[in-house]
Amino acid sequence: ENVSAPATTPSHDKLLDGLLSASFQESTCESRYKSSLYRKPSSLPLSPYLVKKLREVRGVPQEVRPWHAALPDGLQAAPGGAQRRQFSECKYVVWFPLNGLGNRMLAIASTFLYALLSGRVMLVNVPQEQEGLFCEPFPGTSWVLPDGFPEGSPMKLYAGAPESYVNMLKNNVIRYDTPASSLPAHVYLHLEQIGQRLSDNIFCDDDQRLLGKFGWMILKSDSYFAMALFLTPMYDKELARMFPYKEAVFHHLGRYLLHPTNRVWGIVRRYYEAYLAGVDEKIGFQIRIFPERPVKFENMYDQLTRCIKEQRLLPELGKAEPAANTSGDGKVKAVLITSLYSGYYDKIRGMYYENPTKTGEIVALYQPTHEEKQEYASNEHNQKALAEIYLLSYWDKIDMSAWSTFGFAGVKPWILLRPDWDKEVSQVACVRSTSVEPSLHSPPALGCGAKKEVDVAVIKPYVHTHTTKTHIS
Ligand code: GDP
Repeated sequence: ENVSAPATTPSHDKLLDGLLSASFQESTCESRYKSSLYRKPSSLPLSPYLVKKLREVRGVPQEVRPWHAALPDGLQAAPGGAQRRQFSECKYVVWFPLNGLGNRMLAIASTFLYALLSGRVMLVNVPQEQEGLFCEPFPGTSWVLPDGFPEGSPMKLYAGAPESYVNMLKNNVIRYDTPASSLPAHVYLHLEQIGQRLSDNIFCDDDQRLLGKFGWMILKSDSYFAMALFLTPMYDKELARMFPYKEAVFHHLGRYLLHPTNRVWGIVRRYYEAYLAGVDEKIGFQIRIFPERPVKFENMYDQLTRCIKEQRLLPELGKAEPAANTSGDGKVKAVLITSLYSGYYDKIRGMYYENPTKTGEIVALYQPTHEEKQEYASNEHNQKALAEIYLLSYWDKIDMSAWSTFGFAGVKPWILLRPDWDKEVSQVACVRSTSVEPSLHSPPALGCGAKKEVDVAVIKPYVHTHTTKTHIS
């Protein structure tokens, strides 16, 4: 039970200007109202219209759970009755997971935006490795898809499934003018990062109108496809009202939706209070090595130190001990490293242990874990990953690997570029991102209904395509 009248009403500040609802009991999800205490207040404007929309969001009310009655015919033996009618009047989008936790968080936020725009109730399928990580975000209701949803059979959830929207369209199972009454009960949308760039762009008015006729949408995604919704003409107006300041989409939706449970919050809080609460400045390094395109440790380390030097992210090392009255004397700069490996931490820590800095600043290195390898299926591993994603989000400055979805702090990060496909080393060490928005790895080609690929950045000036990322700002 996640709601009842709260014992004390959280203060206006804790509610982040109305972004958060006051109707949760604080103790059931400490992070919801306490997380902001570790962050600087947001400087990104929040529209009253978005606040109003968020207040209207509903999940499936607790009193009708289990509510299998609402599942489409053929997917579940369905008892009749008034409730069934009531809930089959709603339209649903059910998110299914793909890839790592960072990807999932971006995809869930995108699905939520999609649900807001298309008037659907959002549900998430929570596999065991993701269980108990996030609090319920909607007061009085649950967003968790109950057991018994036929995930595998009869629906094979993969890009080539015959139930996929794109395939149904290609195979003439459905057409843009098919009336709602003749459509199958559900549609499957596969939005995977790389595949999304293919000619099958579904972020077009015709497609969205047809998709809107389905009562059930099953959506599998690992991507920040929120950005692609900005490319759909029919959502233009609504998005402009919700996000007059486009750069703040994930910043706001993430702070509304994704709150770590008390178990994960405990890890975050313990670490923060133990090591980081009193420091003068915080900088985070997130070093992600992708197994499918590994970069040698020495090369990555060299790139990181080049970036640190060029961008003056850390104080320079001096030869002699600085005089007592040097400008930064005794100030502590905390470096939080998140990485699956301990090597970067060891080397940088050693450097600042053995040598003084020119400014007299103290550089303190921290790395909560080094898990050595990614464990998709481990709940414990994911708890730590989420705690680290949160810890990073309290940082003033972030320097992170290109393509990684692990870090999103609401600050403009420096991006450690990937080497070109045919190179082992990246010539340019890092560049500053122009946006705090997460990026979409591969934007859809904008040629709705056309055969030609169109560079989205040409048509939508707020979309920036870089070799590193595509984002809106
Ligand atoms: P991406 O693959 O970098 O886009 O990010 P994801 O979050 O999707 O996948 C990375 C996954 O690997 C995470 O969910 C973690 O399970 C794990 N991982 C990667 N880097 C770290 C790290 O620095 N710390 C921890 N604890 N886990 C990490």
